[in-house]
Amino acid sequence: MAEFELIEILKRRCKPSRADVRLGIGDDAAVVAVAAEHELVICTDTLVAGVHFPLDTDPADIGWKALAVNLSDLAAMGAQPVWALLALTLPSADADFITRFADGFADLAAQYQIDLIGGDTTSGPLTITVTAHGLVPTGQALRRDAARVGDVVFVTGTLGDAAAGLRCLQSNDADRPPIDVACAMLISRLNRPQPRVAAGLALRGLANACIDVSDGLLADLGHIAEASGAGIEIGEDCLPGSTALFERFDADACHALQMTGGDDYELAFTIAESNIEAMQAAMTRAACRVSRIGRVIAEAGVHVLDRNGERKQVHGKGWEHFA
Ligand code: ADP
Ligand code: MG
Repeated sequence: MAEFELIEILKRRCKPSRADVRLGIGDDAAVVAVAAEHELVICTDTLVAGVHFPLDTDPADIGWKALAVNLSDLAAMGAQPVWALLALTLPSADADFITRFADGFADLAAQYQIDLIGGDTTSGPLTITVTAHGLVPTGQALRRDAARVGDVVFVTGTLGDAAAGLRCLQSNDADRPPIDVACAMLISRLNRPQPRVAAGLALRGLANACIDVSDGLLADLGHIAEASGAGIEIGEDCLPGSTALFERFDADACHALQMTGGDDYELAFTIAESNIEAMQAAMTRAACRVSRIGRVIAEAGVHVLDRNGERKQVHGKGWEHFA
């Protein structure tokens, strides 16, 4: 199968839906119309086989996740996702792989009316790079560097599920729990993360700082703290967890997964006390659970309090590629 046939499969499965795309797949570059009084928010994220997903992952899940991780970055900025580019490196021109991959990608793209407007297709070790574009009204993007001392820290959804799902999958792990309903739920959080797009939009004008939890809660809160020139204190027992997580892992393992597990794609944000009520109403409308987990403090660093309010040491803050 030739390169153009692969592109044809992608084009056929990822149907265009947007009037603001003047020229999509097929020319040397795409042409889009940017809405007046908006700013363009752009991000890119790469998934490498064997690093970001196990080699035997369903291609449909890979397609979904490649887009999801980028939509999560847009959500963290409070942006409305609009267009995506896809740079694909494939070991072989495998029609079955690309068809399934495109279906997973298209499933999520359709949920948010995002158009695939172009990309690049090359041969080599399986690597997927998506570049996503979003829009925010001018000046309204949510940033990491805007937390203020005294802000309350919240997180959406539940933490630790994806890392727990990975544990369930790792067959050489001696204490691996058998695959049951709880594990299946945890694995689906790993393979099909739901980017918090609606929550990100709801936080515009209300939150001060926001980040998506991709590397682990402590690591990502550390980015907010550092960028904002402040610190964060969180309560270990305030961290939200799913029933499946609590069912499959003991309390210590749950805490570790919630604080340092990657790939959750929840949003962590800081907000002034006076905006909390409005935020909670907006989150209810967005059908998104939020939990209060801590505070922004003047002292640098991210600090964890145990149930007695004592600071505790946590080892391994999260995922780092070159560590
Ligand atoms: P060029 O040689 O001019 O760079 P290509 O042959 O690489 O063009 O691509 C042809 C068209 O197909 C372009 O519009 C490009 O954006 C699109 N395209 C190529 N690969 C992909 C892909 N993986 N996903 C989406 N569109 C793609
Ligand atoms: Mg060209």
